[in-house]
Amino acid sequence: MPEYERMLAANEEWARDFQGGLPVAPARKVAVVACMDSRMPLFPLLGLAVGDAHVIRNAGGVVTEDTIRSLTISQHVLGTREIVLVHHTDCGLQKTDDASFADLVEQATGARPPWPARTFTDADEDVRESIRLLRESPYLVSKDICGTVYDVETGRLHRVDPDAGA
Ligand SMILES: [Zn+2]
Repeated sequence: MPEYERMLAANEEWARDFQGGLPVAPARKVAVVACMDSRMPLFPLLGLAVGDAHVIRNAGGVVTEDTIRSLTISQHVLGTREIVLVHHTDCGLQKTDDASFADLVEQATGARPPWPARTFTDADEDVRESIRLLRESPYLVSKDICGTVYDVETGRLHRVDPDAGA
């Protein structure tokens, strides 16, 4: 059975006792930027309920132009004021580097991506880089940012000191 069929069946179950009616603005006025990693169920691991937070995910949980776009909408249109970054241990982006990744794609498809994969070696350092990029953005009204790294072996988050090593 294709995965999508299992997912559509699961949704039937989900919708059976569904309570709608939540406002579009997140109740806890927070936006989470996180890696797409399949081992991070962000709502339970951060104690969030449906309707509490925006969750913006991409490979690595890195701050890209599109991350800024989403955060700007989150803050200006939907009222969020805090940003929580969640990187993690054993990330897929630590398994390659930008040049090797571009080579891999080019060899397989003939097309070399014009965008960097944004690989990194040190998750804490990449969280600090993300915080720096957010602080530099002229579009955000709130720069109340907490950067974290999730340990996929223990389930624990640790907070990254944004100014360590600076
Ligand atoms: Zn990851």
